[in-house]
Amino acid sequence: MSNIELTPFAKITCSGFCKNCKTIHKLSSAGAVELCESLMQRLDHERRIDFSVSIDKANPDLSTDYLFGNARGQMFGVMTYADSQGHTGVAYGFSGQYNGIWEVDGWVPPIINPEEFDILTTTTERKIKGIGRKMELCQAGSEEYKELSMRRKQMSRLLMQKIHAIYRIPSFTGKTKILPEVAPSNKGIPTGTGDCCAPKLLNFAIKNNLTPCGIAEFYYGKENRSGTKHHKQYYSSCEEKCGLILGHMLCGLDSK
Ligand SMILES: [Zn+2]
Ligand SMILES: [Zn+2]
Repeated sequence: MSNIELTPFAKITCSGFCKNCKTIHKLSSAGAVELCESLMQRLDHERRIDFSVSIDKANPDLSTDYLFGNARGQMFGVMTYADSQGHTGVAYGFSGQYNGIWEVDGWVPPIINPEEFDILTTTTERKIKGIGRKMELCQAGSEEYKELSMRRKQMSRLLMQKIHAIYRIPSFTGKTKILPEVAPSNKGIPTGTGDCCAPKLLNFAIKNNLTPCGIAEFYYGKENRSGTKHHKQYYSSCEEKCGLILGHMLCGLDSK
C-alpha cells in the first residue's frame, strides 16, 4: 500500500495547476521539514497548541487530547519565508478549525473572516433546521413535503455559494479571486477547500508581503477514518482541494 510508505522529503511539495500559465506551480519543502520535527516535539511535550500563554492560562479546548479522540488527528504545516528586507522567518498553521476554533495566537489565521463565516452559517442553518422540523410534521411524499424539501435544498445550495464567495483567494501576482473563480467550473468545490495548511500559509505570506521558501505539512493524532493519514507522517498538499487553488495562489512567486 502506497499510503503507508514514507514519502521522501524531497517529494513533499505543494502544488496546483494554474489556469493562466497552463502549467503546474510548485513550492518545495525546503527548510520546513526540520521545523516540522521541532513542532512535533513541542506538541508531544506541551500537549496543547496555545504555546503563547502560560500553562495555567491554557485553554483546555486547545489541548492535543482533542486530536486523539473522536475528532481524530489534523494536519499541521510550517512555512519558511523571507520578508522584504531578506530576513527569514517561520509561520505555523493548522488545517481548518481546531476544536471549533478558527484563530489561535501563534498560528496563521484562516482565509475567511471567521465573523463573516459565523453570521452567514448560523442564520441560514437555523432556517434550514426550521424547514426540517416542518418537514417532520408533514406526510412524506405529500405536496407540502416536496415543496419544503425543495426549499431546503435551494437554501443549502445558496449557503454553499455564499460561503464560497467569502473565500477570497489571493495570489502572488496580486490578483485576488473568489473560490468559484479559481476552481475549475466543471467540478464541484469540496467542503473545506481553502482551509488546509498550505493555502492558509500562502494567504498569510501574500498578505504580509513575504516570500515563502518552503512548506511542509504533517498529520498529528489518531489516524483518519479512511486510514490514509498517519500520526507524524508528512504529506504533500492534497489534490482534491488544494489542487484546485494552489496554482492560482503560487502564480507569480517565481518572478518575485
Ligand atoms: Zn489540502
Ligand atoms: Zn500561473
